[in-house]
Amino acid sequence: MSENFPTAESAAGDPRTAGLRERLAAVRQRISAATAAAGRSEEPQLIVVTKFHPAADVARLAALGVTDVGENRDQEAAAKSAELAGLPVRWHFIGQLQSNKAKSVAKYAFSVQSIDRPQLAEALAKAVARQQSESGRPDLDCYIQVSLEDDAAHRGGAAPADVERLAESIASATGLRLAGVMAVAPLGAPPGEAFEKLAAISQDLRGLHPDAAGISAGMSQDLEAAVQFGATHLRIGSDILGSRPRVG
Ligand SMILES: *Cc1c(COP(=O)(O)O)cnc(C)c1O
Repeated sequence: MSENFPTAESAAGDPRTAGLRERLAAVRQRISAATAAAGRSEEPQLIVVTKFHPAADVARLAALGVTDVGENRDQEAAAKSAELAGLPVRWHFIGQLQSNKAKSVAKYAFSVQSIDRPQLAEALAKAVARQQSESGRPDLDCYIQVSLEDDAAHRGGAAPADVERLAESIASATGLRLAGVMAVAPLGAPPGEAFEKLAAISQDLRGLHPDAAGISAGMSQDLEAAVQFGATHLRIGSDILGSRPRVG
């Protein structure tokens, strides 16, 4: 099926690809500049958030060198990843997830970045174990989503006080790899403050789990602040794909 995917050459005349190429280059430039400004030597990993955009855009992005994409709804991600089976991209699940969707997510996800409760970790462990015995999938990279708001749960995530316990339940499960933390900056507050808090939470976590060094932070609006405070992964949607099509 891979012969149906666009190559850089076949995509060259397509105006959508041209737009994606231009915006992708601009975002990559911002990431490079922010990395240099932060005095860091290594750039964070770019995850292009393709939610609400068609599978064809994921294929175009892959032809432009994108290796990692993010999705926030299982139904949509399952369909796209099935349609694009064989395309060399890693699928990251970044949305609120019900435990009964774990089985589906374990079929395509390279990481789940939105783990906010032990029951979800348990469900994922069970689903990954089954998938590993059926298809030999690798361990699932797991990020704990942390709420950085005082009145928690607005944009999702575990309370900082619950991170240690949740980390333990992920680290002790076979098939799951504790990869780090993830957060969305609260609305209406300076993102730097939120990402500084996340960096401190990450540092505490690494004290207990040295390999859990991932910090997934930073979206289109605030990637510079995230890079400044140590993000290892950025989740960028609208600045590359344009505004999201309305659903329904
Ligand atoms: C949609 C989404 C993003 C991307 O946001 P943009 O503002 O479009 O860059 C990042 N993270 C999460 C959790 C999202 O749901």
